[in-house]
Amino acid sequence: MLEKIVIANRGEIALRILRACHALGIKTVAVHSTVDRNLKHVAMADESVCIGPAPSSESYLNIPAIIAAAEVTDAQGIHPGYGFLSENADFAERVEKSGFVFIGPTANVIRMMGDKVEAIRAMKDAGVPCVPGSNGPLPEDDAECLSHGREIGYPVIIKAAGGGGGRGMRVVHTEGALLTAIAATRQEAKAAFSNDMVYMEKFLENPRHVEIQVLSDGQGNAVHLGERDCSMQRRHQKVVEEAPAPGITDEQRAEIGRICTEACVRIGYRGAGTFEFLYENGRFYFIEMNTRIQVEHPVTEMITGIDLVKEQLLIASGEKLSIRQEDIRINGHAIECRINAEDPESFLPSPGLIRHFHAPGGPGVRVDSHIYEGYKVPPNYDSMIGKLIVHGPDRATAIARMKVALSEMVVDGIKTNVPLQQRIMADIGFQQGGTNIHYLEKRLAERKEKAIGLG
Ligand code: ADP
Repeated sequence: MLEKIVIANRGEIALRILRACHALGIKTVAVHSTVDRNLKHVAMADESVCIGPAPSSESYLNIPAIIAAAEVTDAQGIHPGYGFLSENADFAERVEKSGFVFIGPTANVIRMMGDKVEAIRAMKDAGVPCVPGSNGPLPEDDAECLSHGREIGYPVIIKAAGGGGGRGMRVVHTEGALLTAIAATRQEAKAAFSNDMVYMEKFLENPRHVEIQVLSDGQGNAVHLGERDCSMQRRHQKVVEEAPAPGITDEQRAEIGRICTEACVRIGYRGAGTFEFLYENGRFYFIEMNTRIQVEHPVTEMITGIDLVKEQLLIASGEKLSIRQEDIRINGHAIECRINAEDPESFLPSPGLIRHFHAPGGPGVRVDSHIYEGYKVPPNYDSMIGKLIVHGPDRATAIARMKVALSEMVVDGIKTNVPLQQRIMADIGFQQGGTNIHYLEKRLAERKEKAIGLG
């Protein structure tokens, strides 16, 4: 069993990892930037090391400083959380070459999943359903590209193999626009990701985002923990997540889950992971795999009773999965609202001092947040200041509990998106369930039109 680990992250996820470690008796080392000395988990960790100044390029992305922190504190492993270095194959490799355990998959698997063309190829070979597409990089030859387009049928989407974070993608509606779109995406991809490889997929017009959570021990055992629906998005950023996904049947879940676990065993996957799919007309289409813990993992924890971060730590300690698929039961419904320090109308970040904070509570209510009264939200990082998660016996009860919880939540001194989350919970479309990935932006655009007298 690991005895001491470095938590190479900040904010709510650093605190979440610390809690799982302490529950297992694992000692913790918090590494932080100069502006993050006052983070809650830094005070709670057994040890802490300042790894650099505020800009993440000099602290949370500073590989030598993080490895040095593990060395000076005699830690055995490094947990990367999400974001920052969590999906950086070179980091995983250097951690392991330095003699530490990387709490995640092997560098090779991370590298493969980071190249979308490679990832899709591997998944297709493993029997995972993918979006119809070019099945590999687009060639330089114009005529061949045009023939791919005709075969797939318009609209299509051109995507960068090295893309991420919703960047490096272009939708093409007609053949006449194809070649210029490919050239532009290539150029952009070369500048942004130093890799001009692009590929083509059928553009699905009204999909939902449904993802499957897996746990795999890298020793031939894997389970799935059902799905999450993360279709409520703005600018490809998830705003609300829930589990299970409305309308997905037990048979569908078992089928897609089985396919994902078989793929895990086949690629030697180690750790927690997520298969992201677009879901349209009753069918799943793989888009990418996230090789880390995700922001929205608590909704899965609430409906399965399984502590995903604890399982990550056990797997990293070399233990075989103790959970069998038949032991996993989906119980009730869970919803997560991301709470961001931002203006609920303009979405501009709103960092600053929190003068007053009151966290909601009650049955089925969970708050994963690092904020406290007197805490100053720095302007340097992501604006998410916490997550509000509720669980209930059914979806309607979960929504009702979320409404009460949001109304109890007080964060004074900065602006938050709580009013937006309240509007989403009150929205008829959301209440019916199963809205697609464009729904929130459409509703926001309608609201804007009304506000300026167009609606
Ligand atoms: P990234 O790694 O940049 O997040 P993804 O491949 O996960 O890229 O795609 C991000 C988002 O782009 C998806 O959630 C979806 O909204 C949209 N998208 C990607 N591929 C398609 C497609 N084939 N059809 C429709 N929308 C797509």
